Amino acid sequence: MKPTFHHRLINSQFEDPSLFVRMLRESRAFLFDSGRIDRLSTGDLLKITDVFVTHMHIDHFIGFDTLLRALLRRETPMRVYGPEGIIECVEGKLRGYTWNLIEEYPIKIDVFGISERRVRHSSFYAENCFARIDKGEKAFGGTVLEDPPYAVRAACLSHGIPCLGFSVEEDVHINIDKAALDVLGLPVGPWLSDLKRMIREKASPDAPLCVDSREFKFSELVHIASITEGQKVSYITDVSPQEDNLTGVIEFVRNSDTLYCEAYFLHEDRERAFERHHLTAKMAGEIARKAEVRNLVLMHFSPKYRDRAERIEEEAMREFTSQSSY
Ligand SMILES: [Zn+2]
Ligand SMILES: [Zn+2]
Repeated sequence: MKPTFHHRLINSQFEDPSLFVRMLRESRAFLFDSGRIDRLSTGDLLKITDVFVTHMHIDHFIGFDTLLRALLRRETPMRVYGPEGIIECVEGKLRGYTWNLIEEYPIKIDVFGISERRVRHSSFYAENCFARIDKGEKAFGGTVLEDPPYAVRAACLSHGIPCLGFSVEEDVHINIDKAALDVLGLPVGPWLSDLKRMIREKASPDAPLCVDSREFKFSELVHIASITEGQKVSYITDVSPQEDNLTGVIEFVRNSDTLYCEAYFLHEDRERAFERHHLTAKMAGEIARKAEVRNLVLMHFSPKYRDRAERIEEEAMREFTSQSSY
């Protein structure tokens, strides 16, 4: 089954981290961190419906203005998700301009500030000259966006300040094998939707399923469906190397098809990594190995290694592919 989205970093490993995730069968994209994004075409900027910001350091947030300018005349709202404080940061950016001539513009911005237990929601509409409207708060259970077939989850991590990790996942793909249906002599019908729902909900093997007034067990019919796991892509950057943070990241990114992970320092500079609240290349490799991810993509290298990028890659990949823990 073909994936439903493509993903790529916008900039080189020594520049601002920003991940562009493009949905293939719709004119839509997600953006993870909004650092420098002016390399995206206007067409790609216009596809971005949802922006997920790990934290508001300037290298992760300066591109907000580029996006805002591109989307001012767009009907589809823009949603921005980030850690506690993002509402105030978006408000501050909007207040940095004069907006007396935009009441006719359609753009609406919804901002969600995420902390361990709650999500605060505020809106800024061009028709009100971007005056802040507080929409209240909800409990936070780990999922920031559920928009089938996509779900985006966030983990609350530390970078000395609150910082979010993100993962985007597709639903499982379920295809019905028509030949297997014929062998059983069963008709196509609404019961197939029930079967798909039971697969998604991992029903028990004995759960009953009615087809044309005949009763079956779930386990007797599940083989007519071929099930492909949807892809999972995770994005982790600017994370303090302390133990509880690393354990949290490993659980969060477990079984990702692709993990985008910072490798800001070489391990020989790990004292600096602790001081600056960043991961080393070796730590990125260890996270990827322990979480059993299939593909590790490194990003966000300190400029001090500009002539030694291959050492960062080597260090992370050696750890990723090694058998033992250290
Ligand atoms: Zn950074
Ligand atoms: Zn940072």
